[in-house]
Amino acid sequence: MITDERLTVYINSLEQEENECLRDIAKEAVASFVPIIRKETGSLLKTLIAMKQPKRILEVGTATGYSALLMSYYIPKGSTITTIEKYAKRIPVAKEHFRRAGKEHVITLLEGDAEDILKTLETPYDFIFMDAAKGQYIRFLPEALRLLPVGGVLVSDNVLQGGDILESRFAVARRNRTIHARMREYLYVLKHTDGIQTAVLPVGDGVTVSVKTGEKGNNGI
Ligand code: SAM
Repeated sequence: MITDERLTVYINSLEQEENECLRDIAKEAVASFVPIIRKETGSLLKTLIAMKQPKRILEVGTATGYSALLMSYYIPKGSTITTIEKYAKRIPVAKEHFRRAGKEHVITLLEGDAEDILKTLETPYDFIFMDAAKGQYIRFLPEALRLLPVGGVLVSDNVLQGGDILESRFAVARRNRTIHARMREYLYVLKHTDGIQTAVLPVGDGVTVSVKTGEKGNNGI
């Protein structure tokens, strides 16, 4: 928890309930230890979608489909969502959830490793949600930026690693050091690359919101 827990509980208590189907899928995910976006992250996604009104959404990391389904209830009519998942056990579960919600015509699940799939995508996506293995974000970034048009939005989840991101690498458990280094690099690149403007937000487990500006400098010079 990177923000005060009581504050987060209070903020989440203001949230309106999602529909029954989403609530059931969230409960199933919790019961079977499937990681899904936190309530406050969902709230941010819904707000960004309301602002951006995306026509084509790409999600990297479907799990059992909770966040894709959540977004599907808030996108403009006629918009579509493509989501990528490589874990074979989760794919049929996500598909069944999309069918159960009557959203199988709105959400397309691409099965396989995003590292391979992203390279094959050509049509731009005006909203990309990155929610896969944290250590791979830095590798996915060039493809995500290639697929974003100017004005497109890239949202990345779990970027502050429960607060560990600010610790020195020696204070982080040895097994987490590679992910820690890669996430720091990801955040640095997002903040120092011409043509993208990024805010790092302590929401949920840490979220970045980046907009492709296409401009040469980000510092107004
Ligand atoms: N977005 C989901 C939600 O909120 O309902 C949660 C996604 S979960 C945090 C991350 C998912 O990304 C896992 O199901 C994992 O199998 C998948 N994943 C990790 N690395 C991947 C990769 N390289 N390609 C495709 N999927 C990947």
